[in-house]
Amino acid sequence: MIRALYPGTFDPMHNGHIDIAQRAASIFDELVIGVYDAPPKKLLFNTEERVALVRLALGHLKNCSIVSFEGLTVECALGIDARVIVRGLRNVADFEFESQIGLANRQMAPDVELCCLLSSTEYIYLSSTIVKEVAGLDGDISAWVRPEIAAAMQQRFAENRFGTAKAGVADPKSVTKTRGKLTHYG
Ligand code: ADP
Repeated sequence: MIRALYPGTFDPMHNGHIDIAQRAASIFDELVIGVYDAPPKKLLFNTEERVALVRLALGHLKNCSIVSFEGLTVECALGIDARVIVRGLRNVADFEFESQIGLANRQMAPDVELCCLLSSTEYIYLSSTIVKEVAGLDGDISAWVRPEIAAAMQQRFAENRFGTAKAGVADPKSVTKTRGKLTHYG
């Protein structure tokens, strides 16, 4: 039984992420999406919201669950007994970044393998940053994210404009276990 961890910020999950998750879920017995709790990035959605949006996007994958985590990705992988870390590669910049982090991760956790999946050509230009920039300018993002995620983004931008943002797109229903800084979702 091979469990894989697909870690990321997922602010929010877009169709390029979904494509990688679906392909990884078809390769490995279990796929765990790791939502990075405290990335050094300005975020549109808080951790619980990003988890809820991942759940909306990937609810159809039966062998997929979600955790949020702080700290090192390899510690998250070891904490959930994942043998593989999955990442997506769009371009040479992604390759350089992933190979550097991947080698550092191997030094820290030699038994955890890195598996990089090439982006499908239709998503190669896609990033959460692009989706947020276009959505923030009222552009059409329907080809890039699920409708529920587009709606959540529109709502958040409207709240930000009118200063009424409050935490919580939706509460993830089934928080199953908390272990240290790792929170497991169904
Ligand atoms: P991070 O902050 O860890 O880079 P992201 O949410 O931006 O988190 O990305 C998570 C993972 O998904 C990374 O491996 C990234 O390279 C990959 N990814 C992002 N966008 C795409 C895409 N369009 N196609 C394939 N993989 C992607």
